[in-house]
This record gives sequence, C-alpha cells and structure tokens, in this order.
Amino acid sequence: MAEDLIHLLPDSVANQIAAGEVIQRPASVVKELVENSVDAGATTIQVRLTDAGRTNIQVIDNGKGMSETDARMAFERHATSKIRESADLFALYTFGFRGEALPSIAAVAQVELRTRREEDELGTVIHMAGSKLESQEVDMCPVGTNFQVKNLFFNVPARRKFLKSNQTELNNVLTELERIALVNPEIAFSLYHNEVELMNVPQSAMRQRIQHLFGKKLGQELLSLEVDTTLVKINGCIGVPESARKKGAHCFFFVNGRYMRHPYFHKAVMEAYAHLIPVTEQVPYFLYFTVDPSRIDVNIHPTKTEIKFEDEQAIWQILMASVREVLGRSNMAPTIDFDVADCPDIPVFTSGDTLPPPPMPTVDTNYNPFKQSGGSEGYKRPSTRWEDFYKGVEGSSVGREVKFDAPFEDSLPWDVTGGTTGVDTQKSGQLFVGNEEEVQCGCSDCYQYKGHYVVTSMKSGMVLIDQHRAHVCILFERYLKQLEEQSAVSQGMLFPEMMELSISQAAFLESQLEDFARLGFDISNMGGGSFAIQGIPEGIAGLNPTKLVADMLAGAMEKGSMSKEDVHRSMALTMARSAALVVGEVLSAAEMGRLVDELFACEMPSYTPDGKKTFVVVEDVEIEKMFR
Ligand code: ADP
Ligand code: MG
Repeated sequence: MAEDLIHLLPDSVANQIAAGEVIQRPASVVKELVENSVDAGATTIQVRLTDAGRTNIQVIDNGKGMSETDARMAFERHATSKIRESADLFALYTFGFRGEALPSIAAVAQVELRTRREEDELGTVIHMAGSKLESQEVDMCPVGTNFQVKNLFFNVPARRKFLKSNQTELNNVLTELERIALVNPEIAFSLYHNEVELMNVPQSAMRQRIQHLFGKKLGQELLSLEVDTTLVKINGCIGVPESARKKGAHCFFFVNGRYMRHPYFHKAVMEAYAHLIPVTEQVPYFLYFTVDPSRIDVNIHPTKTEIKFEDEQAIWQILMASVREVLGRSNMAPTIDFDVADCPDIPVFTSGDTLPPPPMPTVDTNYNPFKQSGGSEGYKRPSTRWEDFYKGVEGSSVGREVKFDAPFEDSLPWDVTGGTTGVDTQKSGQLFVGNEEEVQCGCSDCYQYKGHYVVTSMKSGMVLIDQHRAHVCILFERYLKQLEEQSAVSQGMLFPEMMELSISQAAFLESQLEDFARLGFDISNMGGGSFAIQGIPEGIAGLNPTKLVADMLAGAMEKGSMSKEDVHRSMALTMARSAALVVGEVLSAAEMGRLVDELFACEMPSYTPDGKKTFVVVEDVEIEKMFR
C-alpha cells in the first residue's frame, strides 16, 4: 500500500524552522526576552551573559510574572497574551505580538523559566530543551520573570558554527540593548558579561538616558525637537552641526516605542543640515515618532527593523522642516538659502575640515623611473621594472593591454614639457600647475591638472591619476603593513585628548587597542567609556586625533563580520582616507613624481581599496583620432 506523502511536521521541527527566522544569534534572544520584560511592565531588567551568550543568556525582570498555566502556555506556538484577533494586529503598541519568540528559543536551546506573580505565594519553574518540556515544578521565586537560555543552538550545529567572534556577538547584544534602553528610559537596565558590568543605566528622563549611554559630551551637543501634527508627533533631539562626524554618528529613529531604520527619513534630517555640515558627515539624532498604529506596517518581518509609513512623503516634509526650524532657532542655520543650482559640482573633500599637512617626500633627484638603471642608489623600491609597477593593472580600468617598454624616454612621441601646455597654463592660471623649470623629480613629465589630477605619460599614451585616490592607495598599503609588522612610530602628544565612547564602542576599542598601538596610536582606557589619546602616528600631525580614532572605530565596527583582516583593512583605509592628499592641494614636481612612483610600486595600484579607479590611460591612438 502506498504511503501518504503529505504529513504534518512534528512541532519540534516546525519550531526549529520558525526559530531560524526569529533567533539568529545571542542578540536575538536578548532582544526577544528583554522586549517581553518591557511588555510585562518591568522597571528593572538585568541581562547576564557568558561567552557573549553562547553558553548562557539570562534575563531577569521585576515585571508582572506569569501564572502556572501561562508559564506553560508561553512556550506554545502562537501563544500570546497580546492579541486576540487579527484586527488587533493593526493596533499594536507592545513589542511582541506573534507569540513566536519563546517557542523559537526553546526549540534551539535549553531554557529555564522561573516566574511568579505578586498574588501567588509560590512561583513556577519550567525546564525546556529542544521544544520538549523536561520538567515543571512549583518553587519559591521573587516576583517577576527569570529566563535562562543555555547552550544556544546545541541541537543545530550549523547555526552554532555560523556565530561570529565573541566580540561581534557581544556588540550585537549591546546594539539591541541600546535601542531598547533608548525608548524605555523609565526602566533601569544592566548588562553583565562574564560577571563584568558593561552597562548600568538607572531610571531617568530620555535626555539623561542618552547621556548615560553615549557620554556627557554628546548630551551637551543636543538640541531638543518637538512637533505635533495630526499625522505624526515627533520629539527627541538632534546634534548641533559641530557634532557632525564622518562615521559612527548615533542616528536613531523610533516609532511608537520601537527602533526603526528609515533611510528615507534619515535623508530628511541630513537635508536639513545641508550647508551646515560637510556632505560626507552625519549628525547624531534621537527622534521618537508617535503615529496612529493603523498607518504603519510593522509587520513586514519579525527581525526587520524597516517600517512602512502610509504618509511617508508628508512626514518627510514635516521632519525636514522641524529639524530646520530647531537649527534656525538656535541660530545654526544660514539665514540665506544659498542658490546652488548653477554651481559647479565640486568634488568632495574627504578629509573634512582639517587639512593634512602636505606630503614631505624625500626625493632622490637622480632617480628616473623611465630609465632601467639610473643612479637610484639609496632609493629603495621593490623593483625598477615598469611591468612590475603595473602589476594588477591587467584587465582593470585600463581595459586594453598596457605595455611599458623601458627605457622609454627616447620614444616619447612629442616633447611634453615644451610649448604644448602654454595655452592651458594661461587660460586656467594657477589651476594648471605645470612645471616649466628643470624638473628635478624622477618623473620628468608630471603635470597637475586643476589641483585634482596628475597627468603623466607612458609609452602607449597619457595617464591621468587622481591624486587623492592614488595617495589613499599608497597610504593604505603602508598602514596595512604597519599593522602586520608593528613598524609605525608613535609621537607623544603634549596634551592628551579625551574621547567619550558609548558602551559598545568602548568594548570594541578596548579589544582593538593593540592594533591601534601598531599603527602608532597610544591610547589608554580611563574607564567609564573614557579613553585618552596620548600619542599618534608620526606624520599625521594635522589631523584631529579623536575624530580620526572615532572614524576608524566606526569603520571597523560597521562590518557585521569582523575577522582580524577586515578590521585591519578598515582601520587602514579610514586612516589612509583621512591622511591622504586632498583635491585642490598643489603639488610640486617632486611630490608628483614621488606620488607616481609610489602608486605604481603598490601591489594594487589601479583601484583604491574601496574600489575606485585611481588612474585612467588615454591611449595615443585615441588622442590622434581626436585630431583627425
Ligand atoms: P509575544 O511576546 O509575541 O506574545 P512570546 O513568545 O515572546 O510572544 O511570549 C509569549 C507570552 O509569554 C507573552 O505573550 C507573555 O504573556 C508571556 N511572557 C513572556 N515573557 C514574559 C515576561 N518576562 N513576563 C511576563 N510574561 C511573559
Ligand atoms: Mg515576545
């Protein structure tokens, strides 16, 4: 007899599948449990982790607790005390509403629940493992609920393997907790990791909560915002323009007590700061929206933080206008709206307002890269063969095969240093920095074009090099090497600079101090989220050290996965970007020559580490065609 093929999955399997959606990492467990505690009216919530939550996650609250029946029911799928019919789905103010979290957690871990309501004399203790009820007893417990989740993914080895380093997992937990703590300032939160206190914020007002989490300095840089319209109520605070930074600004939106990501509204805020801060920077903000729950859709996905608004465009306008108004009132916004319509598109200065000092190349005046051997003693470089310098070029931006036959100066089709540039020099004056004098550098035919590009030649055509990007490439490889070799020289600072970091940033920086030291930073942890920068790498004197470290930290933290290599690359890139030559910086012939030499001595000269072209080649045949 043929067996039926369709059958119902056992609950434990169904739960495990559902768990994949809701529970991905320790942070998801913490989020679900803490949100339940918030929903249960707790005023104190304590989270305790062992090994970033791999072995143990405990959430203890003083909320209303559960009856014996409820405690057992809570682990059933779709068991929830929060909605009764589907219409309720549209009127949600509580966090959880699907009744999915507890069964999902119990499907992939060993769970102990201890809970008691005020009116009950004794509490309930339940043990679950892999969706199975192991035991249920009556016992003495304090009022409230105490969940202990042990050996997460003990029965799903693939998931367990998928977890990242402890530092990353811990960061994710901190991020989740920060978000919940920011919307519930009336609740005291604490977090312990391996018995070490990482967070402890008392009950307070919203503004103080922000300070407790992110430091006093940030708290002082905030302006209050409040707007009440029929569509939306927004309150919270926004940073003064001076608080802008390139990366890692604390940007938070919340709607009806829930954290949300909203890139479109983020643009509205940034739009309001236009002309007040550099386009590459962001200001911190903490904005809390209250809207009619029937006009938003929080239902997209249990773990997604995106939320759809029905009146998105109108709210965009309201948000933008109110941020502008606050800035205007505090006299921060320009009184005239500059008409930028017909301004040229000026390339963005990526190093912000602090210009790094011009590079100080040490030049071997005898060195000529176009000669195979040309008195280059003393100038150490990996190779003097052009083919080697262009390693990595193959199949890249150049597109066509590039051939460099050395020596090639004799075969230049025309004299570049001659009269050909005369017209341009006159027309654009200072912008075209050609060098008519005896060129001393190795590169005898380098020209700077509009303070942005270095023009030079090679056998098959003309090379246009983006000076900033080229320098980023060069510095990136240098810093990366320093990270590997610990070869950087640190320069003590006369006056150490203090940094105030959020708990998650502080935890991360603490774990990376050694790498910062390798780059030449001397940073000490002063406790309480304060760090003192006492030394910086030699040669970056013009940069703002706290800003640079904050940017590097944010860059390194941004990556979800953090292998040592990722972190190193990210740190090296941030530092290279900040320290590199900017567009507009006038270069001497020697500096240009040095730049060209060093660029083509790089392992990967054709693209910056973040994938931007550093140079293009216009081939002679193309140029000749233009004159036909
Ligand atoms: P949901 O939160 O979507 O309702 P959960 O699976 O997270 O689903 O929780 C199921 C139910 O268990 C909740 O509706 C609530 O009644 C109860 N519960 C969970 N955690 C707590 C807690 N910390 N305190 C009191 N009741 C709780
Ligand atoms: Mg829940």
